[in-house]
Amino acid sequence: MKKHNFSAGPCILPQEVFKEASDAILNYNNSGLSIIEISHRSKDFVDIMEEARTLALELLGLEGKGYKALFLQGGASTQFLMAAYNLLQSKAGYVNTGSWSEKAIKEAKLFGEVIEIASSKDANFNYIPKGYEVPADLDYLHYTSNNTIFGTQIKDFPTTNVPLVCDMSSDIFSRQLDFSKFSLIYAGAQKNMGPAGTTLVLIKEDLLGKVQRQVPSMLDYQVHIGKGSMFNTPPVFAVYTSMLTLRWLKKLGGIEAIEEVNEKKAKLIYSEIDLNPLFKGFAAKEDRSNMNATFTLVNEDLKETFDAMCVEAGINGVNGHRSVGGYRASMYNAMTMESVAALVDVMGDLERKA
Ligand SMILES: *Cc1c(COP(=O)(O)O)cnc(C)c1O
Repeated sequence: MKKHNFSAGPCILPQEVFKEASDAILNYNNSGLSIIEISHRSKDFVDIMEEARTLALELLGLEGKGYKALFLQGGASTQFLMAAYNLLQSKAGYVNTGSWSEKAIKEAKLFGEVIEIASSKDANFNYIPKGYEVPADLDYLHYTSNNTIFGTQIKDFPTTNVPLVCDMSSDIFSRQLDFSKFSLIYAGAQKNMGPAGTTLVLIKEDLLGKVQRQVPSMLDYQVHIGKGSMFNTPPVFAVYTSMLTLRWLKKLGGIEAIEEVNEKKAKLIYSEIDLNPLFKGFAAKEDRSNMNATFTLVNEDLKETFDAMCVEAGINGVNGHRSVGGYRASMYNAMTMESVAALVDVMGDLERKA
């Protein structure tokens, strides 16, 4: 039976990417060798790395604008500290929109003064704070663009002279934004781009070289830039598979094309959440994420029935995060409209049955 995978991460990727990546594990490009047994210094892999870096910049509209793309290791969680290590000289601002922001704040505090510019903690992060002032003397201002756990997404970013840093792990490549507003963007691959194991970093080079401290090589953006993202052995399979997904996205028509599909998928699930009296949305309507829809059952007694119906329909990975409860449907780029419709059908069936 076809599975509809709503997992929040690691997550669904396009079927054709799975197919091509698995072929390459056995025999890369008819070389008789696996992609994971060839040298990362070989022309084959150097070409893959270069294509991946170029595609990332191209799809985000960042080519020729002073940015470098890196594929690093250690997950977005390492970027929490690496960003601060490389950029925080005296004071940084953070907008706290959920658990991932809080983790980033905790790491940054190791390196300097951290000011929480705004927070939605007062309502268990079910909305995006708005209307705050951005102090002019910050080294940078940090955002989490999409709050994977709570199902909120930032729609507007301020125009300011303060460099913007953004964790886009769960919505990169999903919607059009002026990405050149940001001086540093990072995203763990496993939400919308590839398997776990690599993290995409987009950095404006003029942001670097401003802190006094010594930065260890592995955590120094400048070192990775200088080595073309090959300072040490890169996670070759994760980079290769991410490159395949970026190729897939380009062929599809890029971010503009996928955004349209993502909006349709989101509209379909949210209208069911709003119209079906058995369900209640978690996030404030104007801040709802197009990637992760969070919702709960009005009557928890129906949980067992609904869960069984989901299993029956091949629906996987819809359980909510423990800090929200209920359900979370993650609808990343590779998820089809058909899969969202399958979940909506089950929600409708529950209403007819109850
Ligand atoms: C999943 C996630 C992370 C953590 O990523 P790791 O690669 O596991 O370190 C950070 N930020 C956001 C927004 C996420 O969704």
